[in-house]
Amino acid sequence: MIYLDNAATTRMYDEVIDAEKNVEKNFFANPSALHSFGMEAENLIKESKRTFAKELGCEENEIYFTKGATESNNIIISSLASKQAEAISTGIEHASVYDAFNNYEYKEVKYLKNDKYGYIDLKDLEKSLTEDTKLVSIIYVNNETGTIQNIKEISKIVKEYNKDILLHIDATQALAKEDCKVKSLGVDALSFSGHKIHGPKGVGGLYVSKNFISKLKPLLYGGRQEIISSGTYNSPAIVAMAKALELMKEKNERSYIKELNLYFRKLVKENISNYTFISPSDKVSYYILNVGFANIKSEVLLHMLEEEEIYVSSGSACSKGAKSRVLENLNVDNKFIDGSLRFSFSSDITKKDIDKTINILKNSIEIIRKVM
Ligand code: PMP
Repeated sequence: MIYLDNAATTRMYDEVIDAEKNVEKNFFANPSALHSFGMEAENLIKESKRTFAKELGCEENEIYFTKGATESNNIIISSLASKQAEAISTGIEHASVYDAFNNYEYKEVKYLKNDKYGYIDLKDLEKSLTEDTKLVSIIYVNNETGTIQNIKEISKIVKEYNKDILLHIDATQALAKEDCKVKSLGVDALSFSGHKIHGPKGVGGLYVSKNFISKLKPLLYGGRQEIISSGTYNSPAIVAMAKALELMKEKNERSYIKELNLYFRKLVKENISNYTFISPSDKVSYYILNVGFANIKSEVLLHMLEEEEIYVSSGSACSKGAKSRVLENLNVDNKFIDGSLRFSFSSDITKKDIDKTINILKNSIEIIRKVM
């Protein structure tokens, strides 16, 4: 199997599965319990927070565990919603931001303009800020194209205008892959998820600066175990997610991933005609490469690759079947959108895997183009 769909989800590392099992078997007490067995479990949660705090350069008590980035994003957007509040976001957000804005009531949500690679227009940001702006929410690394936004510059503009505006970033595709130090980025809140870093699904978190936590509330009311998130801790998943983050840091795979990405691009150039790289070549996460092939239906191509046990994504995995809202917003020519595939890498992939993928890709494209 050649798994090139790591932006959709990643394989849990064996050590991560072991860490999860260890908690299931040996530390299964409720971390909120008062007895010593519960406190042992609580200590594991605290240790996990330390791991995330170190990565984000914040205090442990500014990390809140949630059921995933979808919950984290929704906590931010629901908490700041009011008939008097304006928010600023982009047209290339993940559905968990975009759909949340569509379903919570704001006075107005402004969607910033972007260029053909998805970089947002900073002049438009400057113009969009008003005295009613309460929230700016921007995707850090785009899940479909890998485009990295200039968060430091965005923060400068927002904070110079009004330091009380909450600047939130969705860093789901960025954690452990790009610089996520919240102080140097200048952000007040940051969402992340376990399953994009070789951890478990259904667990994630939110960094919230202590200056802003009082503005936030949970989506589900209950025990308030995490103040802004309720429900018994999923301690095995939390501990496993922290283990995954540690392993990602140890592996230090970024330059290898870049090498894979550039190798893939080179082979596409050499072997395939009439394509476009939808992902930018610079200021990009090399974990993600989106390529549009003309005169191709991406689903057909995806299934032909699948026959050879090569797994990729067409558009975003979260919007099955539907035409990608993100790609439409990039103003990519329709002939390339229809034939767009997202290849997303991990350190499990070898150059040999890429050779095989390109070979099958080339043959499949030739077959499809002949019959169309
Ligand atoms: N934001 C982005 C950018 C994502 O890629 C994803 C996962 N596809 C999410 C949010 C949602 O994360 P989760 O699956 O943890 O809810």
